[in-house]
Amino acid sequence: MQDSIRIFDKQFKAYISEAEILAAVRKMADDIAREYRDQTPVFVGVLNGAYMFVSDFMKCYPYPCELTFVKLSSYRGLTSTGIVETLLDLPEEVEGRHVIILEDIIDTGRTLQELVHMFSNRNVKDFKIASLFYKSDSYNGEYPIDYFGMEIPDKFIVGYGLDYREQGRNLRDIYQLNEEDMTNLVL
Ligand code: 5GP
Repeated sequence: MQDSIRIFDKQFKAYISEAEILAAVRKMADDIAREYRDQTPVFVGVLNGAYMFVSDFMKCYPYPCELTFVKLSSYRGLTSTGIVETLLDLPEEVEGRHVIILEDIIDTGRTLQELVHMFSNRNVKDFKIASLFYKSDSYNGEYPIDYFGMEIPDKFIVGYGLDYREQGRNLRDIYQLNEEDMTNLVL
């Protein structure tokens, strides 16, 4: 893991190693597996950010299950726009099924609100939320976060699927934006 990286005009410092991330993913998969062993749940990955998490999670999940994806978008650069667009909707196969949403990160909860809205129009048996990262201080939502891998402060991170202006998704570790770069943001 490098000590720091640069993406465009921003400097990021080493924050969470690949090994720590994988340990958290494995624990989430174990916890969920214990509860859903006999249910054949449908996992719903939220693109794009969750793609790496979903891949590692699926490799750790030991029992029968299915996987589909939805695509939402709310961030432009470093701050949430407040507008969540649905770019790829849920397939019909989720009806009557136990569904678990796999999110990369929950921040304000706006994206989650949109997901909950999506599910309220479908006859799923039940659904739960699993997010690898959870910014509990910025979360404004009412919906409980059923499973999370790591609670992190309200600071911008990249790597392991998460981007800054579409770059950094391929990094295996997580990097955190330098404090001084959080101010005077030009988006
Ligand atoms: P929310 O709707 O909860 O405010 O934000 C959720 C979405 O914003 C996530 O799915 C993710 O795409 C993006 N997001 C939130 N915090 C961060 C962050 O620290 N880094 C990156 N790269 N994206 C974030």
